[in-house]
Amino acid sequence: MANRANHGALLGCGLLCAAALMFAAAGRPNASEGPAAAASANYPVASDARLAGDARQTRFILDLDRKIEFHAFPLADPYRVVVDIPQVTFHLAAGTGSSGRGLVKAFRYGLVMPGGSRIVFDLTGPARIANSYILEAANGQPPRLVLEFEEVDRSRFVQSLPELKPSVADANASAAATTTAAKASDGSDSRPLIVIDPGHGGLDNGTQSNGETEKNLVLGFGLALRDRIEKSGKYRVVMTRTDDTFVPLNDRVKVARSQSAALFVSIHADALPKREGDAQGATIYTLSDKASDAEAERLADAENKADAIGGVNLSEEPTEVADILIDLAQRETKTFSNRFARLLMSEMKATVRMHKHPLKSAGFRVLKAPDVPSVLVELGYVSNKGDLEHLVSENWRNKTVGSMAQAIDAFFAKRLATAGQPR
Ligand SMILES: [Zn+2]
Repeated sequence: MANRANHGALLGCGLLCAAALMFAAAGRPNASEGPAAAASANYPVASDARLAGDARQTRFILDLDRKIEFHAFPLADPYRVVVDIPQVTFHLAAGTGSSGRGLVKAFRYGLVMPGGSRIVFDLTGPARIANSYILEAANGQPPRLVLEFEEVDRSRFVQSLPELKPSVADANASAAATTTAAKASDGSDSRPLIVIDPGHGGLDNGTQSNGETEKNLVLGFGLALRDRIEKSGKYRVVMTRTDDTFVPLNDRVKVARSQSAALFVSIHADALPKREGDAQGATIYTLSDKASDAEAERLADAENKADAIGGVNLSEEPTEVADILIDLAQRETKTFSNRFARLLMSEMKATVRMHKHPLKSAGFRVLKAPDVPSVLVELGYVSNKGDLEHLVSENWRNKTVGSMAQAIDAFFAKRLATAGQPR
């Protein structure tokens, strides 16, 4: 908890990997991510990018070595234009896109998923794509991607926005369909899938006190929770780890996404440095760009540091672009995450000592699956004597697991009732 992790890099990595996963979940073949795969493939090369024009009309030109398909669309708040293209190797001068011209404040580009690159334009204000096309090589010029931006007022900009929700729903539906199809051979199972994620593991002990490590406490709890909810027969349960191994944060998210999980529950235990006094009780966290308070922010930083402890190299992760995919899917997921967090609190508070502010939010990387409702539960403080006594008590664990299982039932009750309707 001592070192402050590079939040930007962490956030970017989380987003990027989530984007890559979204791609994988969409069922494209051979979504290999390794450098070997990248080196062997013969991707189009972008050799130059430039802007021309003024604040009323601005043109973007990307030089390529061959023609490519593209899909351009606007996004609001902040004003942006996104261009989806196949995976492209960008051989652009350092700093390209960092300063803009006319309607373009800046632009970013990069790989967002295996096989797919993206260019994102940050606009100075509302603008529409007046024209977009690929030019053939001609007159000594290479093939080019050209976009022409034109200033419009906000209402016209808003009219030009794509219907994001249906397309996201479609993407999720096809991802789910792919998963179901893949599972059909070993007997399809339509029960909701719940991912339980005991934090830390292996090299990464998490917090510790009096010889008790967070990684062991939360593993024991996670396994007990699994047993409890499996017993009902209503759900499938997958664990991100079942023993003392290190699992990178993104792989935890990947488990949830690749299996089209209906719920992701990450289990942790907190600790407060002595100089910061004492705190006690369980807290339920949801994802937010802005931490709900300083303690939530401190905790997210500490939890996000797990990869650094486990030796995952974050410095090589490109950080640009990937926020876009998140924008599309996460709004709806957020509503479900918050609903589950509230249900969990109302069940837990009946049996478990809760923190004085039991519902909080912050930028936990492990909660970033854009289409899986996700919460992170800090069961209590290992730094607090009373909490630690609870955390190691089997009786306390059974009660707490029971209230979590009830919250899960409440969360899915409506859905299961609907699914179970006779026709
Ligand atoms: Zn933790």
